[in-house]
Amino acid sequence: MAKIKGAVQVNTERCKGCSLCVVACPFNLLALADKAVNRRGYRYVEQHDTDRCTGCTSCAIVCPDGCITVYRKKIEN
Ligand code: SF4
Ligand code: SF4
Repeated sequence: MAKIKGAVQVNTERCKGCSLCVVACPFNLLALADKAVNRRGYRYVEQHDTDRCTGCTSCAIVCPDGCITVYRKKIEN
């Protein structure tokens, strides 16, 4: 059966580091950058484990600023 693999792209310059997406991810795959900040001085979100993302879009739905784009790819077994 084909598996779906997801990947997220964060608009780091728009992100304000509110962490809503971090808590929304059912697999805990998102985290704020350790030290890096964007031009506005906010720590932004990064996906630290790309292998387990299912592309469920929970993170993108909760982001109030539309910073997250989710891509889904079908993997044939
Ligand atoms: S798409 Fe789903 S699994 Fe992937 S990072 Fe966002 S909330 Fe997590
Ligand atoms: S919900 Fe949006 S603004 Fe908030 S930390 Fe996540 S990507 Fe950044």
